[in-house]
Amino acid sequence: MAVARVVTDLGLDREFDYLVPDSLHGQVRPGSRVVVPFGSSTRTGYVVGLKERSHYPRLKPIAGLASDGAQIPVNLLRLADWLAQYYCCPREHAVRAMLPAVVRGGQVRSKRRAFACLAPAAAQQKGDVADSLTPRQRRLLEALIRQGSQPLADLCQANGVTSAVAKALVAKGLVVIEDRVVARDPFAEDVVLPTTPLNLSAEQAAALAAIGESLAARDGAVILLQGVTGSGKTEVYLQAIQHCLDSGREAIVLVPEIALTPQTCERFRGRFGDRVSVMHSGLSDGERFDEWTRVHQGRAAIVVGARSALFAPFQNLGLIVVDEEHESTYKQEESPRYHARDVAVVRGKLEHATVVLGSATPSLESYQNALNGKYRRVLLTHRVDHCEMPTIELVDMTAEAAMQGQAQIFSRRLQALLEDRLGRGEQTILFLNRRGYATQFMCTSCGFVAACPDCETSYTYHRRDQMLCCHLCGRILQAPKTCPQCGNPEVRYSGVGTEKIEVVAQILFPRAVIARMDSDNMTTRRSYSDTLEAFRAGRVHVLIGTQMIAKGLHFPNCTLVGVLNADLGLRLPDFRASERTFQLLTQVAGRAGRGERAGHVVVQTYSPYHPALQFALQHDVDGFYGEELPDRVALGFPPATHMVMIHVRGPEPAQVEATAAEILAALQPRLAPEVKVSGPLPAPIAKIRGQYRYQITLRGGNIRTLGRLLREAVLARRFAKDIEVAVDVDPRSLL
Ligand SMILES: [Zn+2]
Ligand SMILES: [Zn+2]
Repeated sequence: MAVARVVTDLGLDREFDYLVPDSLHGQVRPGSRVVVPFGSSTRTGYVVGLKERSHYPRLKPIAGLASDGAQIPVNLLRLADWLAQYYCCPREHAVRAMLPAVVRGGQVRSKRRAFACLAPAAAQQKGDVADSLTPRQRRLLEALIRQGSQPLADLCQANGVTSAVAKALVAKGLVVIEDRVVARDPFAEDVVLPTTPLNLSAEQAAALAAIGESLAARDGAVILLQGVTGSGKTEVYLQAIQHCLDSGREAIVLVPEIALTPQTCERFRGRFGDRVSVMHSGLSDGERFDEWTRVHQGRAAIVVGARSALFAPFQNLGLIVVDEEHESTYKQEESPRYHARDVAVVRGKLEHATVVLGSATPSLESYQNALNGKYRRVLLTHRVDHCEMPTIELVDMTAEAAMQGQAQIFSRRLQALLEDRLGRGEQTILFLNRRGYATQFMCTSCGFVAACPDCETSYTYHRRDQMLCCHLCGRILQAPKTCPQCGNPEVRYSGVGTEKIEVVAQILFPRAVIARMDSDNMTTRRSYSDTLEAFRAGRVHVLIGTQMIAKGLHFPNCTLVGVLNADLGLRLPDFRASERTFQLLTQVAGRAGRGERAGHVVVQTYSPYHPALQFALQHDVDGFYGEELPDRVALGFPPATHMVMIHVRGPEPAQVEATAAEILAALQPRLAPEVKVSGPLPAPIAKIRGQYRYQITLRGGNIRTLGRLLREAVLARRFAKDIEVAVDVDPRSLL
């Protein structure tokens, strides 16, 4: 008798025992998706293990295998165990994350088509039967002999006959029609030029050697590749992957946001061709299903994708690369709330795969792990091809406003440099991390400010569409012409977004061709690549954008970068505000001067003496971290401690607050004395979509002990129906 331990699709944090019926013996394995009776209905679940017997007396048998027969590899099942424990999430959420939704859903199948093939007997019979064929039948048969098996519909169409002709040939035993799986190829229309390995600089060669050493030792080491922007990290990844493939193993490459990194993806496909599977959000369900199946069946050896690509079903993994490892997008914001970089390190350990974390500005977490010897650090301090690091200068906008009589969007310095670039036929990127036209709509008479009722946050004005939009919940409405409260026609828009920058820039530089890239106007995968291509080809002189343009792009003719308001990120209520601003400025600045001419970066700010700006000015990563890390230690913030956040949300503020207080009351007596508690407090964004939000923050102590406690005190508890409680371990967003 065999008993299967099953987690069902109810989001529960426990497993149930089921009998494996004789009819399914040998087919039900750990990782199998099964259908099980549950109460009066049936549910889908995953087998997480098998055992001899159960201490429950009456077990129900498993009803059957889920229709698609999808199977989670055992190595990923082990990773899911770790994920559920560490991130304190229901077991089923962790197991489910190992399969893409489209594979799990069971609705999408492999695409099949009828293929016409020559019957084995046809070749010998040809002479004898030829006389009995009609001209059309003969034409079809000859085409098939000449061209080989092909889709039936294509064959008939190309030869101008109906399928009845083919069927007649089938009846004569000359042709067989087979049902075959065909792949949906997401790259069918893309042309990628093949590339060959480049010569490495001494630093790059040393980095490659360090990775190669770990690959050979199969020690699961973590290597922090800290290289300045433009130092050729991608070439190191490519050659390391080649080493990995040569040893018969597979590789995963994680990129922060795949739609934003088309150039990086192209480089992998250019080097490795069909062996690369690219998983991105632009794929159709069918393409996604086929790509996963291709990896699962061992027909691809490299997966490039965003965070979930980490769960690629490889059996013999040798290398995981996490590019731009400091990026917040690696953290998943819904359950399971995992951080792909940290899970990559764990998968590497479990499967003896080398993990390479690459960044010009590592996260403070990785930086600290390198300092204390958990990770090996390798430095790339020079740009390739003798490019210079860009010159960065700060412009004090307080002084600028005093000189010009009022606050300015463009400083005179930035204007002059931009004019100069336009005259020389060079390109400029303007960066502002806030979209829309104006961030506030205010009445000059009664002081009314238009705000979203569900989020209690002021609307952003989008001028082109004449709309007010809530950036938290997406609610949009027609912008009123007069004040809705007093009827005053004098309304003022204040605060500047990218849309306004575009309008102002076009007035200042009427001859320039200007394009804007932010999530308002970049709604399809095509619009990204079209705009980037236009900029690369020089048809656009000035590119304006949000953080979307800060990442991994390479434009040799772009010699000027303007950061319009460096202070935006510094004002957020977040202990990482300074770190993020430093990272973002360094990344944006890195877009300048990647060709033959030197780059220049102008950073406009109201706080020119802030350390994040001063160290970015000097390209001094170690200097900045050398100041930031002791501050975090002194204040007891990550990476000096672990942090856990408990979110409580619901429609009634009093009930939300009371639930949060109850949770804390249950936790507090059991917390280790070194754990610092703050809250329950309203979240910095206190309301979104009509849901009031409270937080409890825990810092310090042993994260595993804390996790076990939270599992009992939060996860195992039932709360009122419309109250949502979530645990976020190592949160990235504190809002
Ligand atoms: Zn008014
Ligand atoms: Zn809203």
